[in-house]
Amino acid sequence: MLKAKNNANKMSNFNDILNKTEFSKEDIITLLSATGDDEKLLFAKAKKVKEENVGRKVYYRGLVEFSNVCEKDCYYCGIRKSNKNIDRFNLTDNQIVAAAKFAWESNYGSFVMQSGEISSPAFTARVENILKEIKKITDGKLGITISLGEQTEDTYRRWFNAGAHRYLLRIESSNRELYGKLHPNDNLHNYDNRLECLKTLKKIGYQTGTGVMIALPFQTIEHLADDIIFMRNFDVDMVGMGPYIEHPDTPLYEFREGLIPEIDRFRLALRMIATLRIVMRNINIAAATALQAIDPIGREKAVKVGANIIMPNITPGMYRNSYKLYNNKPCVDEEPQDCVSCLDVRIKLADAEIGYGEWGDSKHFFERTHF
Ligand code: SAM
Ligand code: SF4
Repeated sequence: MLKAKNNANKMSNFNDILNKTEFSKEDIITLLSATGDDEKLLFAKAKKVKEENVGRKVYYRGLVEFSNVCEKDCYYCGIRKSNKNIDRFNLTDNQIVAAAKFAWESNYGSFVMQSGEISSPAFTARVENILKEIKKITDGKLGITISLGEQTEDTYRRWFNAGAHRYLLRIESSNRELYGKLHPNDNLHNYDNRLECLKTLKKIGYQTGTGVMIALPFQTIEHLADDIIFMRNFDVDMVGMGPYIEHPDTPLYEFREGLIPEIDRFRLALRMIATLRIVMRNINIAAATALQAIDPIGREKAVKVGANIIMPNITPGMYRNSYKLYNNKPCVDEEPQDCVSCLDVRIKLADAEIGYGEWGDSKHFFERTHF
């Protein structure tokens, strides 16, 4: 009897936290640690908060991973510069523009260009020209997000003026010490620089997105709670985050024994998404591809607990195998058209609608007061 009463108390405490509007670090840790009935309550609350604040629509962003050439050496990433076991590729400008056209004709509303990080005047000019061309052929109507790493303010401005209006740059971990364990200790992989880049993007006027990897080696639940607080304090407009998945040709692979099982990483990623949705009600949250690498319907499960953006991969199939950031990257054998039909059905099963032809901009961007 006493036990039943304790359980009831515990449940009501959990409910009290869920119904708050301001969350302490301890509250966030409690939400992130939820299991059983508490976890169900967390997911149900996140779904409700999402529907009340950003609606039931999921927006598509056709994703082109146009090159795996990278100047950096992040310890977790399969396309890092020092990995000699992959074929490097670089789509032509025409192939990228054709992919944008495909997104446009498929009524996706938005397009994402992502690649390894290159910083050079030639790369800046190349991307600028591609952006202008995409805007031209779609009559300015295709929304464009870019995710091309750390660049100078001038480069960010040129790309913004050429038509990109959203930028995704994950902080990877907001904890400086953990960040240091995930990257070489040099000027190219500097935490402060990454943070400065995020501030610059915001200043220029991009809808600014960040994110972290979840269940990394050496990462604790406190780190993840701090990541959510970082996103809130930074007042981000969009977040893309997913589980860390090890890659055998990376330095971090050595620490795989300390990782929690993939299924638990996946579950933790869902709790991160749900908790973030409750803390930052009107932002855009993307269901990361890494979720799908663990669970074939992982992204749809994320949509059920707070995510509202999906980035179908529209990179030409023959190149996908070479953009392997981690093990089991999904859909590497498919062509863009294959992904469209399977995804549509699954989104509807996730109790959501698809916002075809809409940009689906971050509501938070238009409502936030800090610039
Ligand atoms: N080069 C750009 C950058 O780093 O911002 C954009 C491309 S990078 C491949 C995109 C994201 O992939 C990174 O921000 C990182 O979070 C994620 N990523 C890399 N390796 C990963 C891994 N092993 N598991 C999960 N996500 C990974
Ligand atoms: Fe390059 Fe981005 Fe991978 Fe780092 S995460 S190695 S910058 S592609």
